Amino acid sequence: MNMKKQSNFKYFVLFTAAALLLAACLFPAPKSLAEERLWDVEEDGGVSEATPAPDYAPMPAASAARGEHAENLYEAELHVARDAKSLSGKLRFTYTNRTADVLYVIKLRLHANDVAPGSLKVNSVSVNGERSYYTLDGEKESMLTVPLPLEIKNGEEAEIFLTFDLTFPETGNRFGINTTGVMLGNFLPIAAVYEDGAWRNDRYIDEGDAFFSETADYRIVLTYPDDHTVAHTGSMLEERQDNVYEKSRYITASRSRDFALALIPDGETAFAEALNGRVGVRAVTASEKTAAFAADTAAKAIDFFSTKIGLYPYTDFAVVPFDRTGGMEYPGLVMVSERYFRDSYREMGELVIFHEAAHQWFYALVGSDQINAPWLDESLVEFLGFRCYAELYGEEAAEKLWQERFIDYSGTQRTARLDADLYAFEQDGYFMTVYAHGAALYRALYEELGEDTFYGALRIYFDANSFSVADMDDLIAAFEEASGRDLTAWFEERMAAEYRF
Ligand SMILES: [Zn+2]
Repeated sequence: MNMKKQSNFKYFVLFTAAALLLAACLFPAPKSLAEERLWDVEEDGGVSEATPAPDYAPMPAASAARGEHAENLYEAELHVARDAKSLSGKLRFTYTNRTADVLYVIKLRLHANDVAPGSLKVNSVSVNGERSYYTLDGEKESMLTVPLPLEIKNGEEAEIFLTFDLTFPETGNRFGINTTGVMLGNFLPIAAVYEDGAWRNDRYIDEGDAFFSETADYRIVLTYPDDHTVAHTGSMLEERQDNVYEKSRYITASRSRDFALALIPDGETAFAEALNGRVGVRAVTASEKTAAFAADTAAKAIDFFSTKIGLYPYTDFAVVPFDRTGGMEYPGLVMVSERYFRDSYREMGELVIFHEAAHQWFYALVGSDQINAPWLDESLVEFLGFRCYAELYGEEAAEKLWQERFIDYSGTQRTARLDADLYAFEQDGYFMTVYAHGAALYRALYEELGEDTFYGALRIYFDANSFSVADMDDLIAAFEEASGRDLTAWFEERMAAEYRF
């Protein structure tokens, strides 16, 4: 899918500001999702400041305008248990059929069950207000199929309401309990992608990011034990102390590719500003010092990539530590290995934060098929992390870090094409191919085209494909437009497993 929109980003910013203000004015008292649509309840609440218009060059993506149709909408009430080991959830999902086909079912991915089978238990499903039967498919019951009482044609919508319980597994990973806190990535039931006449049902593997989703609007009421600090996708509109041990937080995320959440016990929070104060960057870690480091580093990245590629369109960004090596990106929230917050890993820590921040541009905004073309976002952001590093600390320091990171991989023989699907790397070779050789491809392209043309191409790519899903043709087209050259053969030659950088 490749929607090219012509209208101006200003409308998106204005819409977001208006929506935030409106939602804040009409803020509901905590009410059951089953009774009322979350944001249509008349009750006074705290009023948030409207987001100021950006005064930051260059212009953001033209494709950022909402266009004629609204996004799918996820409205959820999530109640985290007092011991922070589980949550109970209610989700109302309003799905609009934007495909050319008539749809008789809607399918949702339950990735929690991919990671830890049985961790997400569906209790009930309704469609358009009527109780519905449903099936849980796949070996791990990670695909929820909901038949529709009335089929929906293009432009028609259906409303699915489901209740579920989620137990947090002890994984030390992006979904589950870590020593640093609870990481809830890919935990919320999310629509599968409908493509070429079928719902995508890709097998999950731990390698890479076996997830693929489209952007949607999220409105979340999160109730959580107040001995935890939360970080999440989107913006907080209001928070209330419900009782002596619980808070409820109202969160909105517009045009977001997913919704992720982290709960950090006894977390220290640090703030930094990006884009002249338009973006609030937060880091929640175990100490004030590491939180300040992470927030400052992330703010630098938001400024750098906004300047070079296009404006970061959201108002919030958060960084949290987890146990796994490396990092993991979600819209507006990144998880970074706890060790990278320590002084002894500072350089690599900065690089990883830059990498995860770059994913806001390539993964969150410009989407791509992370299962069939994992290199498309991953190789690019790996290279961009080094560019951000070079900008701040000089080429020599960036080169030193490059050698440190890729010393074992330069000149090595790949076993798969660079543009192979994720399953080609199930045994090994993912980091070497997609990170090391992928970054080397972009380094070669950067040297060949020069800095201005390189970033010019990324601006074209970002402009045309934000809030959408891009493929390799879109990427090459952008570099060809910026350079005035035919680059198909250049890319093709370097995709081959035999190619050595
Ligand atoms: Zn990445």
